[in-house]
Amino acid sequence: MKKFIDNIHILKDETIIENGFIEIEDGIISNIGESSNNKANTLALDLKGKRILAIPGMINSHTHSGMAALKGAGDDLPFEQWLFQTIIPLEEQLDDEMIYLSTMISQMEMARNGITTFVDMYMMLDSIIKAVDEFGMRAYICRGLQDDSLEDGQRLQKNIKAYEKYHGTANGRISVGFGPHSPYLCSKEYLKKIADVAQELNALIHIHLKESQKESHQYTFRELANIGLFNTQTIAAHCVYADSDDIQVLKEFNVSVAHNPSSNLKLANGIAPIEKMHQEGVNVCLGTDSVSSNNSLDLFKEMLLASLIHKGETKDPQAIPAIVSFKMATSNGANAVGQKNIGLLEKGMRADIAFLDMDNINLFPLIKPISNIVYSGRGSDVIATMVDGDFIYYFGTYPKINEEAIKKQFMEKYVKLYK
Ligand SMILES: [Zn+2]
Repeated sequence: MKKFIDNIHILKDETIIENGFIEIEDGIISNIGESSNNKANTLALDLKGKRILAIPGMINSHTHSGMAALKGAGDDLPFEQWLFQTIIPLEEQLDDEMIYLSTMISQMEMARNGITTFVDMYMMLDSIIKAVDEFGMRAYICRGLQDDSLEDGQRLQKNIKAYEKYHGTANGRISVGFGPHSPYLCSKEYLKKIADVAQELNALIHIHLKESQKESHQYTFRELANIGLFNTQTIAAHCVYADSDDIQVLKEFNVSVAHNPSSNLKLANGIAPIEKMHQEGVNVCLGTDSVSSNNSLDLFKEMLLASLIHKGETKDPQAIPAIVSFKMATSNGANAVGQKNIGLLEKGMRADIAFLDMDNINLFPLIKPISNIVYSGRGSDVIATMVDGDFIYYFGTYPKINEEAIKKQFMEKYVKLYK
């Protein structure tokens, strides 16, 4: 079915096409451009008299969507205490239903902030995938893997089974990858086993690398490359303590780095050498990490921080300019997952689009779009979000789900979790 949006302003590279149109057919942008005479088959978006700007849906390259119930848990604690004494004991109490409900809540927040795709690492994939299927986002879902428990082996087997069952389902919206947590929770032998499986399946690997100072001398990226970890499409979250040699390995093996500025600052892990990675040509994308280390799922905030903290860190006002942060949140995220048809608004791309209210006073008058979006924009400027041409957020509502029922069920379980 053809859908048509008229009188829409469209972000094209770094400028705005005024009063343009977007035509969508079978979830794909079949035509886009300056004003057209084609007077709508189906009007997909009632602009309600507003000046609306269409931008590419944002890509959250690192998160743990099942953690919505842990928002605020362990705030202001040191990293190790936060992870091992607060987060992990709470996670042990989460069941299938709570992971499902948490993934729903996380998707509400992401969709509300213009995010259309997320790269996840968590457990109980059946529940996460059910939530993604119903809500309508695009997701790369990786099972968190660690080999220091009696469950060893089963987790990887479960990840493989989930890949076989779900990869490419929901009209291609759902992809399954592998999520070895980190070299400090996975032995080299275990990492090699995962890497071999992922390479055989041509699946994504999603891992935390050198997030904290303690890890800085525990391993080198070259050692990880030598066991084959980077032989498949890989997203390495954080890389705060990546040294020059590590950065060379990232470049050589085309490993993407998911930069999570809020999380790195909040857990006091430090500031990743992103300007250096950018200069070296490493593909850097942006993530929120979870709501227990951020504590929000809003890439507008991460774009702003990325552009600010690296200027402060390098004492160079030209470091990570607005356009670089914007690409990190959009097209670089598409590169990171190896998906060529998202991250841009062009003919032939999937219709994953965020719509901004240009008259929101913080954006107004929106003459320098990229700069205004990065330095003045907020998630609350988003009035609608679509994936594959279907709205997942629309003027304060979530068309595909029952928001109130999900919140109610979530709260009933949430209260028990903290008893
Ligand atoms: Zn993480």
